[in-house]
Amino acid sequence: MNEVFQAHYHNRFPLPRRIERLGELAYNLWWTWNPEAVRLYMRIDPLLWERTYHNPIKFLRQVERAKINAATLNRYYLENYDRVLSEFDSYMQRKDTWFAQTYPQWVYRPIAYFSMEFGLHETLPIYAGGLGVLSGDHLKEASDLGLPMVAVGFFYTEGYFTQRITEDGWQEAEYTHQVFDDLPVLPVLDEEEKPITVSVELPGREVQVRLWEVHVGRIPLYLLDANVEANSVTDRTLTARLYSGDLEMRIAQELLLGIGGVRALRVLGYNPSVWHMNEGHSAFLVLERLREYIEAGKSFEEAKEIVKASNVFTTHTPVPAGNDEFPLWLIEKYLAPIWTQLGITREEFIELGRHTTPWGEMFSMPVLGLKLSEGRNAVSELHGQVARKMWHFLWPDLEVDEVPITHITNGVHLSTWLARRMRYLFDEYLGEDWIERHDDFELWEKVMEIPDEKLWEVHRHLKRKLAYYIRERARWMWARGNVHPVQVIASGVLLDPYALTIGFARRFAPYKRANLLLHDPDRLLRIVTRADMPVQIIFAGKSHPDHEGGKLIIQEIYRFLKRSEVAGRMVFLEEYDVNLARYLVQGVDVWLNTPRRPNEASGTSGMKAALNGVLNCSVYDGWWREGYNGQNGWAIGQDVDYDDPQRQDEEDARSLYDLLEQEIVPLYYRRRSSDELPGDWLYMMKDAMRTIVPQFVMRRMVKEYLDRLYIPILSPKKKVIET
Ligand SMILES: *Cc1c(COP(=O)(O)O)cnc(C)c1O
Repeated sequence: MNEVFQAHYHNRFPLPRRIERLGELAYNLWWTWNPEAVRLYMRIDPLLWERTYHNPIKFLRQVERAKINAATLNRYYLENYDRVLSEFDSYMQRKDTWFAQTYPQWVYRPIAYFSMEFGLHETLPIYAGGLGVLSGDHLKEASDLGLPMVAVGFFYTEGYFTQRITEDGWQEAEYTHQVFDDLPVLPVLDEEEKPITVSVELPGREVQVRLWEVHVGRIPLYLLDANVEANSVTDRTLTARLYSGDLEMRIAQELLLGIGGVRALRVLGYNPSVWHMNEGHSAFLVLERLREYIEAGKSFEEAKEIVKASNVFTTHTPVPAGNDEFPLWLIEKYLAPIWTQLGITREEFIELGRHTTPWGEMFSMPVLGLKLSEGRNAVSELHGQVARKMWHFLWPDLEVDEVPITHITNGVHLSTWLARRMRYLFDEYLGEDWIERHDDFELWEKVMEIPDEKLWEVHRHLKRKLAYYIRERARWMWARGNVHPVQVIASGVLLDPYALTIGFARRFAPYKRANLLLHDPDRLLRIVTRADMPVQIIFAGKSHPDHEGGKLIIQEIYRFLKRSEVAGRMVFLEEYDVNLARYLVQGVDVWLNTPRRPNEASGTSGMKAALNGVLNCSVYDGWWREGYNGQNGWAIGQDVDYDDPQRQDEEDARSLYDLLEQEIVPLYYRRRSSDELPGDWLYMMKDAMRTIVPQFVMRRMVKEYLDRLYIPILSPKKKVIET
C-alpha cells in the first residue's frame, strides 16, 4: 500500500505536532492490547472515550481542542506519550522477534490465514462469537511472536447486529451501516490511488470485491467488500452481514472468501507457503489454488498433491448438523464452470466434498478442507476424539484412533484479556520480563507469592468496576426511553458490587444450555436469595437472529429474572461483545459454562476468566476437561458420555446446584478470622492462575500450530510424528 496515502490518513486529525502520532497509532490495533496506549486517548477526555465506544478515529475527530492542548501541556502525559510511541516503534521495527530467532530460515515464507470472522476490537463488528475471537487473538499473538502471517476476511458493512431485548424478553436485531471513514481500516489502492479490486465469477456475472487493510500489530489483515458500484444492488449486499441464513447468499459469500481471497493475495504480491483455513467457510480457496496449478500446466492429480501439501485445516464443529454444507443443486448452479476449469467431471468434483447425510447428498466444506489439507486439527483433546469419529468415513481403511486429525487446544491472547491492574500486580511479583515468558509454567509458580490482600484488592476493584459499568449501561438504557422500569432492574441496577457474582456470557446456541441453571427454579431461588450469602448471576449473549431456539432461551431466562422473588440478583445484559466480555471475565468471581457435552469443541471465555483469577465452574467438555485438575475450580457432572440428553441435563443441573450450595457459596463467604479475607478462595484463585494460564494462552497455541502444522509444511523433511 502506498505509504504517502497512508500518511494522509494518519495525519488528517487536527492534532498539535507534539502528539500528532496519536493519529498513526489509531490505525494500528496494537494500541488495543497495550493498556498504556489505550490511556493515551482515554486520559484526554474519558467521557468522550466512552461515548465514541473506544474508537480513536471518531475520538480524535470529535475531541475539543482545549482538551488536546491541556494534554500537550501535561508533562506526565507527554512522558507517557513518548514512552508508548517508542515502544510502538521498537515493536514494529524489531528484527529479532521470537520467530526470527527461532526460525530465521522461514521469515520470508508467508503463512496465509483465512477466517469468516475476526474478533479484534469492539469498533470492528466483524465477528459473531468464539470463532472470531480466536482468529483475532491468533493474529495478535502471531504479531507478538513475529510470524510472517497475512490474513483474509470480510468487511461486513452492517456488521453483526445490535441486540435489544423487549420487556417480554424477546431479542430484536438492529442493523447499522458501518462507516469506513470512522474505522481503523484503510482502503487498498493502486499506484494511481484507485481501489484495488478482484473479481469472482458467480452465475451469470462477475462480482467485484474491493479490499481494505487493517493493521494488527505487524500483521496485515485484508478484508473483502462487495459493496462497490460495479456490482448489482443485490450483489452489493453479499458482504453486508455475517452468517446469512440464506444458503444461496452463503455459498456466494464463501466463493468470495475462498476464491476472491486467494486472488486478493496474488494481486498484493503474496506467495504464501502455508495456507491455514480456520473452519470450512474458506475451503473454496483450494479450488482457486488448484486452478492456478492446472493453468500452469499441471494435471489435476499433481495439482492436488501440491496444494494439499501446503494447506492446514482447523475444524471447530463437533456436530454434523452444525457444519457448513450445501445441497448439490446449489453446487451445480455455482460451481459447474469451476470443474470444467479444473478439467474434472462433475462426479470427481462432488467427490471432493461429498457428505452422505440422512437428508441427502451434500457438498461439505469441512470435507473439502480436510481432504485437501496435509495438516488437520480439532481444538481440544475431547474434540479431537469426536472429530476422528465424525470424519472416520473419510478414511474408512483406518481405525478411528488413526484418523489423521490431531488436536491443538485453543488459547487466548493474554494482553488482550488481562485486566490492567492485574497486569501491574504481575509486574510486581512475576519479574520484569514476565510478559515475554508468559507461556512458561515455572514463571507462574511465583503467583503463589502474591500477598492475599493485594490480590483481593485488585479483584475487588475489578468487581466494583464491573458493577458501576453495568449501572451506567442501565442508566443509558433508561435515558434512551421506551423501556419498562423492570427492564432497568433486569439490567443490573440492583447488583451489589461485593456479593458472590457468577458470569455466564456467550452465544445463545441451545447446546450451551444457558437455561440449565433454571432446571429447578425453586432450588435456584433459594441459592440466589439467601440473605447472609447472596449470589448474583449475570447473563449476556446473542442468539443468531434466525434461530428461534436461542431466542426462546433468552426469553425463558429474561422472564424468570424479572420476577420480584429474584430480587434483582439475576440480570441479563444486552449487546454482548468483546468490550462487555472484558468487563465480565475480569470482574466476576465465577465463570460458569454448561454446554451439553461433547458439543463445546473448546470454549475460550473461561480461559480469559482464569487469566484474571476468576474461577471456572464448567462441564467436563472442551478445554476445561484439560484445564481442571481437581482443585483449581469446579467440574459439573462427570467425565462421561451420555446417550440420553434429558438425563444428562438432569444430572448436570443437580451437580451444579450441589456445587453451588456445598462448595462455591460457602467457600466464597468463609472469612479468615485474622484478616477477614476469604483465604481459601484466594488460594484457589492463585492456584488456578498458576496451573491454567501458561497452558491456555494464545502463545502456547500459536507455537503449537507452528511446531506441529506450519513447520512440517515449510520443512517437509522434518516431518513431526503426530501424537
Ligand atoms: C471469548 C468470547 C466468546 C467465546 O465464548 P465461549 O464461552 O468460549 O463460547 C464469544 N463472544 C465473545 C464476545 C467473546 O469475547
